[in-house]
Amino acid sequence: ATPMSIMTATGRGASAGVLIKDAEALERFAKVDTLVVDKTGTLTEGRPQLTDVVVLENDETAFLSTAASLERGSEHPLAEAIVAGAQERGAELSEATGFEAVTGKGVRGEVRGSAVVLGNRAMLAAEGVDAAALDDDARTLETDGKTVMFVAIDGRAAGLIAVSDPIKPTTEAAIRALHESGMRIVMATGDNERTAKAVASALGIDEVRAGLSPQDKQALVEELRNGGAKVAVAGDGVNDAPALAAADVGIAMGTGADVAVESAGMTLVKGDLNGIVRARHLARATIRNIK
Ligand code: ADP
Ligand code: MG
Repeated sequence: ATPMSIMTATGRGASAGVLIKDAEALERFAKVDTLVVDKTGTLTEGRPQLTDVVVLENDETAFLSTAASLERGSEHPLAEAIVAGAQERGAELSEATGFEAVTGKGVRGEVRGSAVVLGNRAMLAAEGVDAAALDDDARTLETDGKTVMFVAIDGRAAGLIAVSDPIKPTTEAAIRALHESGMRIVMATGDNERTAKAVASALGIDEVRAGLSPQDKQALVEELRNGGAKVAVAGDGVNDAPALAAADVGIAMGTGADVAVESAGMTLVKGDLNGIVRARHLARATIRNIK
């Protein structure tokens, strides 16, 4: 690799919104055959909106007030969607006590004297709550690509809240171009399998791994590399940092967490997948010129 051509390439990359750490990252990226992408914030906008509420017994506004009062303690984008959606629907919030977040699962605490648990199926199951009465509604919403969160009040299933996180307008064409450049695309997400598959099939993504913790995402990258794949990982969040660091090339989406940027060989300033398409063309052209 001649330093001059690499410098030209990194310079051109920067003007195209792709910050490339060093020559090695660019060379490795030319050889990548598998791209692992996070769903939330990478394929999608990462700004979920509350769309549906199902209550079993409570009044809907009271139910939303309870859920949102608890979620005020969380910084998760799903929590922000619940708080904003509840307020738009006229719910008054109160103080929660004993707030606790369980990473990748949900939150718990007390609101107005009731014990409240809110999160995915695993969160309610861990608390011994039977959420079967909500399952039909949940499945329908998930098949639509929505993320469903379950709520238990005083140990009983009380309802569910669904949010929708729209796919970025640039994602579909970028996935097509990456396929054309010879990449297999694997979605890795903490979200549930039905929601993940609905989003993946709308985009023609080759493989889906759902319900993953940050460590599971890292293990997936190691598994793919051990199988002989050359792997790039694109992600935006703190929870993607271990997977980014384990990849041949980590790609931080610029709009995301600083820790993701620190673990990356490339950073996409604008945070959409088109930057990866541009970086791929650049990397391949540079390697061709060197040879
Ligand atoms: P992602 O990779 O989609 O950002 P996470 O690993 O952060 O997801 O969380 C996985 C799942 O855990 C979410 O899809 C959601 O069902 C549940 N969850 C996590 N945090 C919260 C929260 N604050 N409120 C409700 N549900 C949550
Ligand atoms: Mg994310």
